[in-house]
Amino acid sequence: VNRFKMAVRSSSISVAVAPMLTKLQQDCATPLPVLRNVADSMSADIRAGLAVDGGSDLKMILSYVDRLPTGNENGLFYALDLGGTNFRVLRVQLGGKDERVIATESEQVSIPQELMSATSEELFDFIASVLANFAQKGGNFHLPPGRKGEIGFTFSFPVKQTSIDSGILIKWTKGFSVSGTAGKDVVACLNEAMDRKGIDMRVSALVNDTVATLAGARYWDDDVMVAVILGTGTNACYVERMDAIPKLQGDFPPSGRTIVNLEWGAYRKGLPLTVFDRDMDAASINPGEQIFEKTISGMYLGEIARRALLYMAEEGSLFGTSVPEKLSMPFVLGTPDLSAMQQDTTDDLQTVGSVLYDVAGVESTLNSRKIVLEVCDTIVKRAGRLAGAGIVGILQKIEEDTKGVIFGKRTVVAMDGGLYERYSQYRRYLKESVAELLGPETSKNIVIEHSKDGSGIGAALLAATNSNLIPGITA
Ligand code: BGC
Ligand code: MG
Repeated sequence: VNRFKMAVRSSSISVAVAPMLTKLQQDCATPLPVLRNVADSMSADIRAGLAVDGGSDLKMILSYVDRLPTGNENGLFYALDLGGTNFRVLRVQLGGKDERVIATESEQVSIPQELMSATSEELFDFIASVLANFAQKGGNFHLPPGRKGEIGFTFSFPVKQTSIDSGILIKWTKGFSVSGTAGKDVVACLNEAMDRKGIDMRVSALVNDTVATLAGARYWDDDVMVAVILGTGTNACYVERMDAIPKLQGDFPPSGRTIVNLEWGAYRKGLPLTVFDRDMDAASINPGEQIFEKTISGMYLGEIARRALLYMAEEGSLFGTSVPEKLSMPFVLGTPDLSAMQQDTTDDLQTVGSVLYDVAGVESTLNSRKIVLEVCDTIVKRAGRLAGAGIVGILQKIEEDTKGVIFGKRTVVAMDGGLYERYSQYRRYLKESVAELLGPETSKNIVIEHSKDGSGIGAALLAATNSNLIPGITA
């Protein structure tokens, strides 16, 4: 406490910092025309990606989920959820229309850092062993004797689906560089690992986390049309008419609907980027890829801010004459740290001071803390507003095809992910951007809603809907 008081008194920031901050704010600015351009380009990319595979930065992956949960789903199902940071296993007891979700039992482990660059076998063995433990321990609910356990597998990476229960990993994202999985069917990888661990279960549905979230939210609310994840990584999916998907061949009913996964992390047009974004991208394990994700998702916001602060420290003496050593370490500053600092309401910005000190070994003055907050706000504002523009891009596309169906009535966008859930300023910027773009009349009908744990329950629901052991209940 004393240390911070002293620091506050001796404040002298080089005059060079002010123009640096102004430049950062200019480079990150997202006035309405910039947002509009992103929303329009997102719509155009959606169309191009639906027309033909490889037609756009957006892969527009067909999920094979064309039966959404109805509420009638019944029985015990498992879900596995491999995200960016955690791995979860769930057991969900569904009780049909009246009882709905009777119980959920789950276990969560954070993914050990070394597994993110391990071999495919090592990663899937880890998943299978957590599942084996969980299944062995048992819970309060049981499968009828002789029935195989069925799994909804939420796999939060770009997968080219080949059916509802198979799909090929296109590439890793979010810092994963596991060798030997890209190009392989991830369900086969899981099956092989389950064999090695002696687990006799089957995957009934392989889904992206956005798709699971949409299914989970739709279970409670028929107006859900779009789902967005804003966590370590980011992505979106929505309910599309089959006859509006030129690249979808085959016979389907005129009323047919299916969920399409945008993989919007790969979007890149019209984004206001800075030298810090470009340097971070160049230093990443996937340079040139996932540019939208690198601009708006949780894995990267802290790192962009760190790079800006380091520059201001080196070239503008933001933290005095010496540059704090730890501030040079990539990813020392996390997005949760930005959020913690932005919640500080004390006069002398105590929390900002202690986060900077604890996390990056930075001794700060009140003036430098104020600048740090401005930097955080600039990065987070750009991210939240661009995410909002992306959402409007999706809504606009649906509206163009179905005049009035989206903008004329209540439409729900289901949101999940730690960044959305835990960063209040981010949430606010996102909603402001959607409202600015849509105008007051239309935005009244658009409900942007947190869907807590949709992806876990959603996957279990989709395992139920696509069960081939229990007669399915179609929508
Ligand atoms: C992945 C998506 C995923 C998103 C959110 C991205 O990095 O490519 O498949 O939905 O993260 O988890
Ligand atoms: Mg997740």
